[in-house]
Amino acid sequence: MEGTITNFIYLICISLFIIGLKKLSSPDSARTGNLLAAAGMIGALIVTLITPLPDGDNNYPWIAGGILVGTIIGLVAAKKIKMTAMPEMVSIFNGLGGACAMLLSIVEFYNHPSGEPLLSGQIITTFFALFVGSISFTGSLVAYGKLDGFLRDSLVPPAPKVVNMLLLLIILTVSVYTMLQPELNFTYIMVVLILSLIYGVTFVTPIGGGDMPVVISLLNSFTGLGAALAGLIYGNQVMLVGGVLVGAAGTILTMLMCKAMNRSLLNVIVGGFTVSGGSTAESGDQVAKVATYADTAIMLKYAQKVMVVPGYGMAVAQAQHTVHDLEKILEAEGVSLKYAIHPVAGRMPGHMNVLLAEADVPYPKLLDLDEANREFPSTDVVLVIGANDVVNPAAKTDTASPIYGMPILDVEQAKNVIVLKRSMNPGYAGIQNQLFFGERTRMLFGDAKSSISKLIEEMNNV
Ligand code: NDP
Repeated sequence: MEGTITNFIYLICISLFIIGLKKLSSPDSARTGNLLAAAGMIGALIVTLITPLPDGDNNYPWIAGGILVGTIIGLVAAKKIKMTAMPEMVSIFNGLGGACAMLLSIVEFYNHPSGEPLLSGQIITTFFALFVGSISFTGSLVAYGKLDGFLRDSLVPPAPKVVNMLLLLIILTVSVYTMLQPELNFTYIMVVLILSLIYGVTFVTPIGGGDMPVVISLLNSFTGLGAALAGLIYGNQVMLVGGVLVGAAGTILTMLMCKAMNRSLLNVIVGGFTVSGGSTAESGDQVAKVATYADTAIMLKYAQKVMVVPGYGMAVAQAQHTVHDLEKILEAEGVSLKYAIHPVAGRMPGHMNVLLAEADVPYPKLLDLDEANREFPSTDVVLVIGANDVVNPAAKTDTASPIYGMPILDVEQAKNVIVLKRSMNPGYAGIQNQLFFGERTRMLFGDAKSSISKLIEEMNNV
C-alpha cells in the first residue's frame, strides 16, 4: 500500500515536470512552467526523503547537512552572480549534475555485496553512469573556463584524436575486465573514474570557437543521461523520467544548435577547430566610418523600418531595457521596429530571448534568422547592438574562418547599418569583421546602454 501511494505521488510529480516543460516553450507561460516543475521536484524530494529505506536507516543528519550546505552555496552564488555570468553558472550547475551521477556510481560500487555476480545489468548501468557523469563533470568545467575566457582556445591545444580513441578503448577494456572478475576490484573502478575524468577534458578541448553552443547543449544532455542512469540504478521512476526529460531536451537543443551552425554533430566532435585569430579577414589599411549620435537619431526618426540585432554585448551592457525604451519611442513616431535573433547570439542558447523577455519586449517582434534575412533588403536602418560573429560575412566567404559555414544575419543587405560597440575588438571567435568596413556601415563607439540613452536624448531634440 505504501509503495502504491509513493508511486502515485511520483506520477503526479512526473506529470508536473512534463506540463512544466511544455509551458517553458512560450514566454507567457514559462514562469508558471518553471513553478510547476519546481513543485514537482519538491514533491519528489519530500516523498523520497520520507520513504523508509530497506535497512531503515535514512541518514537524516547527513541529508540535512547536505541540504544546508547546498542551500547556502546556492543562495550566495545566485545573489552574487552577475547577469552576464549566467552562461558560466549554467555550465557549473550542469557539471555538478554530472558529478552527482559520478559519485552515486562510486557509492554503488563501494556498497556492492561481496560474492554477487558482476556481469549484470545493474553493474553495466553503474559503469555507464560513472563514465557519462565524469565526462559531464570535467567537460562542463572546461566549458566554464572557455566561456569565462580564462581558458582561451589557443591556451588549451586539443589532444590528438588518437588520444581520445585510445582513452575510450582503455575505459571499455578495463570496465569489461572488471566485470569478468569473481570479486569487484575497487582499484579498477578508480582507473575507469580517472580516465573518464581525463576523457571529459580531452573531449571538450578540441571543440571551441563558434562550436561552443553545441558542446554546451551536448553536455546538458549528458547530465540528463547521467541522472536517468542513476534513476535506473536506484529503481527510482521520478529520477529516471526527470533525467530522460533533461537528456531528451539537451539532445533536441544539440540538434538545433548544430543546424544553427550548419555543422553535423560528428563534424563538431571530431572536426577540431581553428584557433581563434586564424581568419584571413584582416582589416589591413581599411578605415571604418564613424557615426554621430545626432545623425543616427535623425536617420532613425525618419526611417520606416528598423531592425535591432542584439548580441553578447547587449548582455554585457545590460542594455535590453533601454533598447525597449527606444523601441517605444520609435513606434510612437510610426517607425516599425523588430528584433533579429540569431540562434547562437550571446553565450547560451536562448540568451537574447531571455534578456528581451525580461525587458517585456513582445515576443511576436522577435524574428528568427530566416525571417530576418528576408526582411533586411527592405530595412532602412539596422542597429547591431553588441553583436559581432553572428553578423560576420566571413562565415559566407572565408574558408579559413573558424565560423565558416555558419548561417549569419545578412545585415549588409539593409540600406544603413549602425554598429554599437566599444572598439574594433573582435567577438567570441576572435576574428575581424569586414561588415565594419562596409559601404553602408557606420560605427557608433561606446557602451551599448549609454549609446542608446544618448540616442534617445538626441531623438528628443530632433
Ligand atoms: P560576439 O561575442 O561575437 O561579439 C560581442 C561584441 O559585443 C564584441 O565584439 C564586443 O565588442 C561587444 N561588446 C561587449 N561589451 C559591450 C558593451 N558593453 N557595449 C557594447 N558592445 C559591447 O557576440 P555575438 O552575440 O555576435 O556572437 C556570439 C558568439 O559566441 C558566437 O561566436 C557563438 O558561437 C559564441 N557562443 C555562443 C554560445 C551560445 O550558446 N549562444 C555559447 C558559447 C559561445 P567591444 O569589445 O568592441 O565592445
